Amino acid sequence: MDVTTHRAGLKRLPLRAAAFVALACTAILGMSGWREWSARDSRLRSAEAEMANVARSLNQHAEDSLDLLDSGVVGVVSRLEMDGTDPVTIAKLNNVFEARKKAIDRVHSFAVVDSQGKWLTPSGGTSSTLSDDEFFRYHQLSPRREAFVGHPVKSLIDGVWVITLSRRFNRPDGSFGGVVLATMSADYLSHFYQQFEIGRKGTIWLAHADGMIMARTPDNAMHVGRSIADSALFRDPGLQRPDGSYHFKSPVNGVERVSFFKRSSRFPLVLVATVEKEELLAPWRAAAISRMGFVFALVLLIAIIGAVLVRQLQRGQRMAAALVEKEAHFRLLAEGSSDMVTRIGLDERVRYVSPSSIRVLGWRSSQLVGTPVLAGVNPEDLPEVQAIVDAIRRGEKEEARIVYRNAHRRKSEVWLESTMRVTRKVDGKIDGVVAITRDVTEHKNLENRLETLAIEDALTGLANRRRFDERLTEEWARAYRDRSSLGLLMIDLDRFKSYNDQYGHPAGDECLRILGGILAREAHRTTDLAARYGGEEFAVLLPNTDAAGCVRIGERILQAIRDAGIAHPSNLPSGHVTASIGATACRPALERTAGQGSLVHAADQALYKAKQGGRDRLVASGELRNLMAVASGR
Ligand code: GH3
Ligand code: MG
Ligand code: MG
Repeated sequence: MDVTTHRAGLKRLPLRAAAFVALACTAILGMSGWREWSARDSRLRSAEAEMANVARSLNQHAEDSLDLLDSGVVGVVSRLEMDGTDPVTIAKLNNVFEARKKAIDRVHSFAVVDSQGKWLTPSGGTSSTLSDDEFFRYHQLSPRREAFVGHPVKSLIDGVWVITLSRRFNRPDGSFGGVVLATMSADYLSHFYQQFEIGRKGTIWLAHADGMIMARTPDNAMHVGRSIADSALFRDPGLQRPDGSYHFKSPVNGVERVSFFKRSSRFPLVLVATVEKEELLAPWRAAAISRMGFVFALVLLIAIIGAVLVRQLQRGQRMAAALVEKEAHFRLLAEGSSDMVTRIGLDERVRYVSPSSIRVLGWRSSQLVGTPVLAGVNPEDLPEVQAIVDAIRRGEKEEARIVYRNAHRRKSEVWLESTMRVTRKVDGKIDGVVAITRDVTEHKNLENRLETLAIEDALTGLANRRRFDERLTEEWARAYRDRSSLGLLMIDLDRFKSYNDQYGHPAGDECLRILGGILAREAHRTTDLAARYGGEEFAVLLPNTDAAGCVRIGERILQAIRDAGIAHPSNLPSGHVTASIGATACRPALERTAGQGSLVHAADQALYKAKQGGRDRLVASGELRNLMAVASGR
């Protein structure tokens, strides 16, 4: 990966993090939702299974009940066909009926009806005829001997809703003799169904195959005898199966129900058990709402934490970008500058140095990084530079400027000027020094030249008058302090005006230069100072030199001038260039003198005497001469 794609990748990082958080939240919500939905589904499945069990067992119960009625009816039919319908037989049958009714609670009544539809039993039964009833007409018209289950009817005996099962009996000649009828109370079934736990709003009902309700719980009285033949269960071709579950909206109150139906294989019956969906799912819904509430809170928490983290990531990236920009600015300034910018660590090693180092020191920045920063400083300047760096490092100085000599890779040495400044970390702790360094060698050389110009005589290269005066003051003070002797020679060329006249001014200058060389050679101690005092007059300052030393040096100078043998015909008697010297020496601390001026004055006086005495000689000031006389024994 190259740098730009890496940068672009970093830029998209917060976006990716946000997408990840969103994905995680969606996944948690999706999974929880799916889990809740499947819990709902399994609740519905199990309800269907429960309803199926109820419907199957109650259908069985209905079949068994009708079988029970039928077994009684079958017995009576065979008795009537054998014994006929004479009153004795009927009376006996009446007794049997009473006994059966008492023994079996689900039997409501037994009855025998003759071929005209008149009641034969129970004795004292109603006088009305049953010739219009559905079951009677069926048996009257159909020769079939099987049991017939009719629509529920209201009992003529006590007015309750009953379910009828009947068979026809024949006369001995095979013609229609009448009907034996057994009934079962709808209330009995309704009460029986109430025992089943199918919820407060659940229903169980038994209907005739053509849609008329035979028994129902709850609200039996309201529903028995009503037809629901136009409902889906009886009309929908898909539901005309022996059994199955189906969901439907109640046509009565519009509530949704989950139900299971079972059609009897032996009788025209269908049994349906239903449960209200709302009630069925209520516990699931309450639990699901609290669980989903928890999940939503969790997702919200994740989203908030995610958002905070993404914000922090963004802020961090912005800060990093700003830092990179700052660094770029710094490099632009440091690397575009002709000055050398150096960053120095607390270990005094170079951390960073700008490319100008090649110009300033002759080394490339890569060669300098990691090296000790003071390694190239001239040993004479090192203590001063080190002291300043130490002071900055200790925090005693914020900023300092210093000029020093430093080694250069190719040149012998360069003068550098560094401005140093302490650098601190964010917490204020000192972490190094930044130095801006420039080459000031040229400037320094110029300065040195100006300095020498100010104190040097251009013609002879000796010290000039100004320098002489300065040194005289210094040496006088030193001699006073040290109680030492300070000597002075004043030298004047003899008849130099005529030399100039004869040879010209340039030749005169050359002569002065030669004399300058002689004086520089003879005044050879480092503390000695030979100076051009003015015109063709020179002075030699001899610190720590007594009178005898002064005279000795003066005589040597006179001899050296003579030895130079420069022709000067008008300077008789020698015909060569000569000079006269006035010499003096004194101990400022011990003698009563009027300061340094008196020394010059004394030498001048002596020089004057030398001129008067015939030139080409040395005259020492008063006391000296005496000393000399003692020394030479003259
Ligand atoms: P004396 O023996 O008495 O000293 O005689 P003199 O001719 O040397 O007299 P004086 O000292 O008065 O003359 C100084 C002369 O030195 C004047 C001038 O021609 C000459 N002179 C002074 N300064 C210079 C100089 O810089 N160059 C040259 N060529 N001659 C100079
Ligand atoms: Mg003179
Ligand atoms: Mg002269």
